[in-house]
Amino acid sequence: MSPIGIFGGTFDPIHFGHLRTAFELMQVLELEELRFVPAGDPPHRDAPLVAASLRLAMVRAAIAGQPGFLADDREVRREGPSYTVTTLAELRAEFPQRPICLVVGMDAFLGMDRWHKWRDILRLAHVAVAHRPGWRAPTEGVLGQLLSERGTDRVADLREAGAGCVFVHPVTQLEISSTDLRNIIVNGRDPRYLVPDAVCEIIRETGCYS
Ligand code: ATP
Repeated sequence: MSPIGIFGGTFDPIHFGHLRTAFELMQVLELEELRFVPAGDPPHRDAPLVAASLRLAMVRAAIAGQPGFLADDREVRREGPSYTVTTLAELRAEFPQRPICLVVGMDAFLGMDRWHKWRDILRLAHVAVAHRPGWRAPTEGVLGQLLSERGTDRVADLREAGAGCVFVHPVTQLEISSTDLRNIIVNGRDPRYLVPDAVCEIIRETGCYS
């Protein structure tokens, strides 16, 4: 059965590094759908600059027209910190039989052992890790151990089991970050060609980072 992909993030704002990574993993993992899940209140970082509803609107604008890409607003609607484990538990209840793949960049994976109930995440979903410029896969510690015990390069493993594998995959390396984008805009420069035009338009119209 084709897995459901989940791509969480702050998306403050969404950029082509997110979109290309999601697209390549959707193709490699043969996902029928990949859900972008903007965090309402991301627990492991500073508060986002822009309100959750506007970050969600930018995600919607960015993915419009791409078959299989969906925006899932549950973390924006939910009160309290946006724990990934809660989102995955909800999805597991909605889709008891389907494999679920949580897509993360390597930087996010390297911090995963500090996430709320992180070991439960592997009981609920597979984790698909995309390489990101400047970050290397862990070889030591709990995450290095996790990778050696649960790592696979077989896409079939992610269909045969519902959860529990870690799949690391090289994607086109685009050195774009939301932090850099916010700095570009705050300094009065144009983010064009780093984010979709529709997102540029929202940023310009609302002045949300200026
Ligand atoms: P910030 O600079 O504000 O921390 P970010 O660019 O890292 O933001 P997030 O919304 O925090 O973006 O990231 C969501 C997910 O996308 C994370 O799993 C992150 O690792 C991944 N990601 C972000 N940018 C890239 C990129 N350029 N290439 C691959 N993965 C990325």
